Order: sequence, then structure tokens, then C-alpha cells
Amino acid sequence: MQDETKLQQVTSKFAVGVTRQIKSSLDKPGIAKQFVPTEQELISKPSELHDPIGDHTYSPIKGIIHRYPDRCLLHPVKVCAVYCRFCFRRETVGKQNTSLTADELENCYEYIRNHPEIWEVILSGGDPLVLSPAKLQQIISKLDQIEHVAVIRLHTRVPIVDSKRINLDLLAVLKQRKPVYMALHMNHPDEFTEPAIAAISQLADAGVVLIGQTVLLRGVNDSTEILGKLFRKMVQHRIKPYYLHHLDRAEGTSHFRTSIETGQKIMAELRGSYSGLCLPEYVLDIPGGAGKSPIGPCYLSKKSSIYEVTNYQGKQFTYNDSD
Ligand SMILES: *Cc1c(COP(=O)(O)O)cnc(C)c1O
Ligand code: SF4
Repeated sequence: MQDETKLQQVTSKFAVGVTRQIKSSLDKPGIAKQFVPTEQELISKPSELHDPIGDHTYSPIKGIIHRYPDRCLLHPVKVCAVYCRFCFRRETVGKQNTSLTADELENCYEYIRNHPEIWEVILSGGDPLVLSPAKLQQIISKLDQIEHVAVIRLHTRVPIVDSKRINLDLLAVLKQRKPVYMALHMNHPDEFTEPAIAAISQLADAGVVLIGQTVLLRGVNDSTEILGKLFRKMVQHRIKPYYLHHLDRAEGTSHFRTSIETGQKIMAELRGSYSGLCLPEYVLDIPGGAGKSPIGPCYLSKKSSIYEVTNYQGKQFTYNDSD
């Protein structure tokens, strides 16, 4: 049994919430563990940070995070449809309803217009799909009109956790001149419920390019079998697994953290037994804001111009790069 007063401390510290749809799947441990608060969240480690990936440092104006030259994040809202217990932005997301005002949004468009190197704009979290289709239409069409913005990407959980929001109005909004990519945050095969599958299929049919984003979580998906099943389901439903994130060091999340060694071992095992389509890139967001780096198992080592390359069975081969 969990201690009620401790749980109250958790809920006063971090946002808690699920949709009706997720509530009806809480009997599945792979889902419950992601959303039901526990007193373990009160455990803080010295290595945990308020701003684990340095969002603040790279925010030139309210609503924009511009870490990499060719792409920036735009955060129109700071709320989500559900609150993941391991959220990397838990210090800022769900704290209050801080949607950008019309003026603030205008400043964001102005910033993007003034930075011709921005080739892609990523609407991120908060979850942009909690906005009404009309509001989203306003934002996306503004971005669509900026000449140098070639690609629009949305990061979201909504199609999986509140599938009914994927309706005809929303699908119409996602049909722009420019390609719209959508990264679906999914961590466990049990998230492929019937309504989620229907929403995914509508999005894919509407021409939205779907990619999958997964966080490696101890006790939820830290096994080759579970992740293999998840990535296969993604591919079967036209979602290309994109990133497997090593868990960021947000406060009160240590009970979800695995070692990098575990992650690498899983990736190496997946490489052997699963289609290449099922393999995401395993990445670490370097604490402080230096960006994401691939941290998957390395198959290559070098002796003068001779490389040693390891195949998926762990066998070593040499490759001469000089002639
Ligand atoms: C993760 C992230 C991106 C997207 O990076 P990709 O490698 O292109 O997926 C962009 N901007 C910021 C600030 C990010 O944290
Ligand atoms: S959907 Fe993303 S931003 Fe929202 S609570 Fe989950 S991890 Fe955090």
C-alpha cells in the first residue's frame, strides 16, 4: 500500500492526470506504471536536474527552444493530455495553463522568420494536439507560410491516449503544402489499443509521416522482447521507430532509470533478430543542453587504416579503408 500523505506530496509537486481512455487500460502494468504516481517520485538524486536537457539555456524567447541551427521547438502550450511519471519537462509542463498569448505566438513567428537557417519547426510539449483544430490550424498555417520552413513536425501522445481527437477537422489541419511529420510517443506494446490503432491508421492515410519515439524505462520496457514487440507493432502500423531515448535526469525519476549498458545490450539483441525497419536510434540527451548523441552499441574499431567491424552476432571482421 502506498502512503497517502506521501502521494499527496507527489501530486502537489508534479502534475498527475490521465484521459478516460488511459483510465480504462490501467489494469495493464505496462500502462499503469507510466501514469500512476508512486511515492518513489519523492526520491531525489544529486545528479537529477530541474532542467535536465538545458531547455532554458537555449530559449531565446518565450515559446521557442533553438538548440540546433536548422530546427527549433515551438511550445504553444505547456499542458499534456496525460502526465508521464518520468517526464523530462516535469518542472515546466502541467504546472499551470500557460498557453502562449496571441502576441507571444506572433513573436515566435517573427523569430522564425528572422532566422532563415530554420528549416524545420517542431511543435512540442506540452502536447500540441491538446489544442483545438482551429487553434492548431492558425499556428500550422502561419508556419506553412514561412518560405524557409520546409518541414513541420509535431511530437504528441494524443493519438494514443485520447484517440477521438483525431477527427476529420484535425486531419484537415494536418494537410498542408508542406510535409507534416508526427512523432508518436509510445513506450509499450499495450498502448496499441483499438482506438489508438484506428487513429494511427487515419493519420497515415491522411499522408502524415509517422515516426515513433520511445523512452527506455526500467520495469516498463527494458527488455528485448517488449521493445522488439513494440517496434514491430509500430512498423506494422506504419510508424517508423525513430528514437529510443535514454531516460533524462529529471527529478524523482531514478526508479525508471536503466544503465546505458542495458540499453546497448537490448539494441544489440534487436539488431540480430528484428528487421532493420524496427530499429530506432538509441540516443542520450547530454545533460545541460549539448544535444542528442547516438549511444547505441558500436560495431566499429580502428587499427591504422584498418577498421574492425562487429556484426550482429558479435563476430569481428576487418575492413581496409585505405584502398
Ligand atoms: C530533441 C530536440 C530537437 C529534435 O532533434 P532531432 O534529432 O532532429 O529529432 C530539436 N530541438 C531541440 C531543442 C531538441 O531538444
Ligand atoms: S507527453 Fe511528453 S511532455 Fe507530456 S508529460 Fe509525457 S513526456 Fe512529458
